[in-house]
Amino acid sequence: MSPNADNPLELPDDISPDRRIIPSQSDALRYRGKICGVVTENTVECARAAVERAPACGADMIELRLDYLHDFDFSNPPGLPYLLECSSLPVIITCRAIEEGGHRQIENLERLRLLVEGSQRFGCYCDIEAAHYRAAAELGLDQSRAIVSFHDFNGTPPDLDAIYTRVCKLPAHAHKIVTTAGDIDETVPIFRLIDRARAEGRNVIALSMGKAGVITRIIGPARGGWLSYGTLDHGQASAPGQLSCRQLARTFRLNSLGRKTSIAGVIGHPVGHSVSPDIHNAAMAALGIDAVYVPLEVADVKSFFGSFVDASTRQVDWPLLGFSVTIPHKTAVMELVDDLDQTAQSVRAINTIGVKDGRLIGYNTDVEGAIVPLERAGALDGERIAVIGAGGAARAVVYGLAARGIETTLYARDLEKGRQIGDAFNVRVAPIRAIGSSNEPVIINTTPVGMRGHSEGTSPVGMEALRGRRLAYDLVYNPIETCFLRFAREARCRTISGIDMLLSQAALQFQLWTGREAPVDILRAAAVAALRGQNG
Ligand code: NAP
Repeated sequence: MSPNADNPLELPDDISPDRRIIPSQSDALRYRGKICGVVTENTVECARAAVERAPACGADMIELRLDYLHDFDFSNPPGLPYLLECSSLPVIITCRAIEEGGHRQIENLERLRLLVEGSQRFGCYCDIEAAHYRAAAELGLDQSRAIVSFHDFNGTPPDLDAIYTRVCKLPAHAHKIVTTAGDIDETVPIFRLIDRARAEGRNVIALSMGKAGVITRIIGPARGGWLSYGTLDHGQASAPGQLSCRQLARTFRLNSLGRKTSIAGVIGHPVGHSVSPDIHNAAMAALGIDAVYVPLEVADVKSFFGSFVDASTRQVDWPLLGFSVTIPHKTAVMELVDDLDQTAQSVRAINTIGVKDGRLIGYNTDVEGAIVPLERAGALDGERIAVIGAGGAARAVVYGLAARGIETTLYARDLEKGRQIGDAFNVRVAPIRAIGSSNEPVIINTTPVGMRGHSEGTSPVGMEALRGRRLAYDLVYNPIETCFLRFAREARCRTISGIDMLLSQAALQFQLWTGREAPVDILRAAAVAALRGQNG
């Protein structure tokens, strides 16, 4: 079969494996866990500046995407030193063919000559698509500087192992397999492939693109992948799901992760906006705990448990510390754990899973997390409390208040939903329109109204309904001061932001998983920085 540039899945299979380069174990180890900053600038001058700033962004290597450049002479490999001379880091030069995700049409021979001669003359690595390997070999490709790559932008091929076998027949310093994960289960073949490459002593770059594939970008290198790609600047991803070098280096501490690093994460759909990775990783780093907390984009939670969690069925063997569970899986996971603690059982929802003697235990730290800020504010001393909303968060709050004997009234838009909570925990229920004529000294918003990306700038009640109350507490934490809290401040009420609940419940989770007290100042600083970062 000959290489076919129109069909990147069609690989040359007539290359002799005799001259295969198998990197030494020390090489594989030396390069394990590297962060490769991808330069995707449009002009030579901007690319040069990006190359210069890459180390400060957390990169250990650089991938220079030449196909992004508008003003570069592709027919002139000697033009490369201008871009390379300012790099203090090893560089991979890449000039993608258009059918493999490249940004511009460049004559194929010219493109390959640039890569082959560039790597030969200037000592950098070059990324050659497997489908074009033979043409590059005919130009004199230096195999010890070659990364042979295979991409699938549409999914994860069922015969990935066979594809990898064929890619590995092409002698190279590293072999790269990039697929697309529509669901987190599709990352399993990538983890298997990394295990196989490690056992065979090869340098492999294996990852899944897409939100569900983020986990391969963080944990892949810890399990033996050669490197993970990151953007130098926010919003410049060269592939879906790519994190920034700063996130990989600082939030996830990719350089210090290994196979024994314990894994925790947040299971949800979507989870991309969650600040929990920032909070928990900051705490783990501060206390020197060898663990990492990752976002787990899970659509089908039962299937995820089968592939990654249940010790009797899972296909990825990793040291699990525990999970946070968020929307929409808080109820569905109840039947997937071995035991429930009393609070999770009463609230009928889990937001935390711990692992104890190999058993999965479901907890609900939202309850204590919601109550602790009220306790600290002295708002539970004989006060009557109004709770707005009748969803999962309301259920946790009402349970926590009822368990302490606090006189509570639930104000619901959907009275039937409200009654279900009211009946379960024996509290009064009223229609939301009655809130204007109510006078409980403490008022809690448990609806998402006012949340960024949902209904920012609006409040579930007007300022008049807040006048005369002692304290207003919003469970929404993004923005930190919601419209509801601004109204309350202007109406001279004391306020508590949802960030206090977020941090209290996170501190409880951290303690459950690690047995250590969470460094609360560090949690808060990480949460505030992450929210500021998200909100530009
Ligand atoms: P949920 O289960 O979807 O419940 C939302 C509730 O809000 C429902 O009862 C809904 O009424 C009600 N609602 C929505 N829009 C409304 C409106 N315009 N007027 C009146 N009621 C309205 O969501 P959840 O899990 O309870 O979460 C609610 C909020 O709490 C979210 O913003 C979440 O981020 C926040 N939260 C924060 C923390 C923290 O740590 N700070 C923890 C958990 C949750 P219907 O039933 O009529 O639809």
